[in-house]
Amino acid sequence: MSRFFSKKFDNLTPYTPGEQPKIKDLVKLNTNESPYSPSKKAVRCAFDAARELQLYPDPTCQALTQKVAKIWGVDTDEILITNGSDEILNFAFMAYCDENTPAVFPDITYGFYKVFAQLLNVPYEEIPLKDDFTINISDYMNVGKTIFIANPNAPTGIPLSLSEIEEIVKSNQENVVVIDEAYIDFGGESAVPLTKKYDNLLVTQTFSKSRSMAGARLGLGIGSKELIRDLNTIKYSTNPYNINKMTMAAGIGVLEDEAYTKKNCKAICETREYTKKMLLGMDFEITDSAANFIFAKHKELSGEMIYARLREKGILVRHFDGDRIKEYNRITVGTKKQMQAFLRAVSEILEENK
Ligand code: PMP
Repeated sequence: MSRFFSKKFDNLTPYTPGEQPKIKDLVKLNTNESPYSPSKKAVRCAFDAARELQLYPDPTCQALTQKVAKIWGVDTDEILITNGSDEILNFAFMAYCDENTPAVFPDITYGFYKVFAQLLNVPYEEIPLKDDFTINISDYMNVGKTIFIANPNAPTGIPLSLSEIEEIVKSNQENVVVIDEAYIDFGGESAVPLTKKYDNLLVTQTFSKSRSMAGARLGLGIGSKELIRDLNTIKYSTNPYNINKMTMAAGIGVLEDEAYTKKNCKAICETREYTKKMLLGMDFEITDSAANFIFAKHKELSGEMIYARLREKGILVRHFDGDRIKEYNRITVGTKKQMQAFLRAVSEILEENK
C-alpha cells in the first residue's frame, strides 16, 4: 500500500474472486459460471453492437429495460440495470446503509456484503445461521437495519420460501430488505412479485449464471419506483455509462432466447440432483442446494485435502477457510460429463485414503 492510501481503508479486506486459471483441460467448477456457451443470439447482437463502439452507450439502457420489464412483469421505472449484480448491491449499500443504519446479513453468505460494508465504513452485523446452515427467520424480525439475504443462499444453496421472505420484508417496513437472487433460476421462488406490495423490498438478479453471461457483467435490481430513483441517483453519481454497448445488446439477445436459458437451467438442475445422489453414496454430507452448485463435506476427509487433491487431478472447486465451513467444498454444477470427471476424481481420492 502506498503512503497516500486513505486511512479510511485500514480495515478493508478486499473480496477474493475465484481463480480464473489459464491451465488447459482443467474442469472448472469454482465460480458458479454456466458450463454452457452464451446464446448465439446474444453473441450476434454483441458483435453487431461492437460496430458502433465510437459512441457512448445509452445511459438509460432503455431497450434492455423494456425487455426486462416485459419478461419480469414490472414497470420500466421499477428496474435498474447494472454492471453485474455486484454493482446494484454496491449501490444498495451506498444508498441504504450509513452509521445510523447498519447492514445485517448471515454469518455464512456471499462474501462481498462484508466487503461493501467495510469499503463504505458502514457498521454491520453478521447473524449466525443455524447449525444446519438454514436461516432462522425470527432473527430478522424488526431488526432496524438494512437486511441483505441471498436466496438461495451462497455457498450453501439453501433457499428460504417466499412466505418466509415476505415475513421478513413485512416486519421491517422501516428498512430496506435486499434479496439477492443470483441463483433463483435454479430453484427457490422469486420475490419479484412482492415488490408491487412492499416499497422496502429490492430484489437483485444477474445474467451471470442462468444466462451464461458472467463475462459480460450484467445484473439488475427490481423494486418500487422510489427505490429505483434512489439507486439511479447513485448510478448517475458514480458511472452513468455503467453498461457497455456490447453487453446491453447481448442482454437483449439472450432475452429473445428464453427457451435456450430454460433448457440450460433444466439440464443444470438435473445434473445437480444426479451429482448430489452420487456424493451421498460416497459418504458426503451435502446441503439441499437449490442453486447451480453443491456444498459438500466428507464424513472423514478434510475439505482442504479434497480441494488440493482435486486440483492436482485437474478439477477446480472452491474451498473457503471460514471456521464453520472449512470442511466443505463448493462445487459448481457443470455438464454431466464434467461432473462425471469430478466424481471419478473424488472416488480415486477416497480410494487413495482408505
Ligand atoms: N450474489 C451472489 C450470491 C453471488 O454468488 C454472486 C456471484 N459471485 C453475485 C451476487 C454477483 O454476481 P455478478 O456480479 O456476476 O452478477
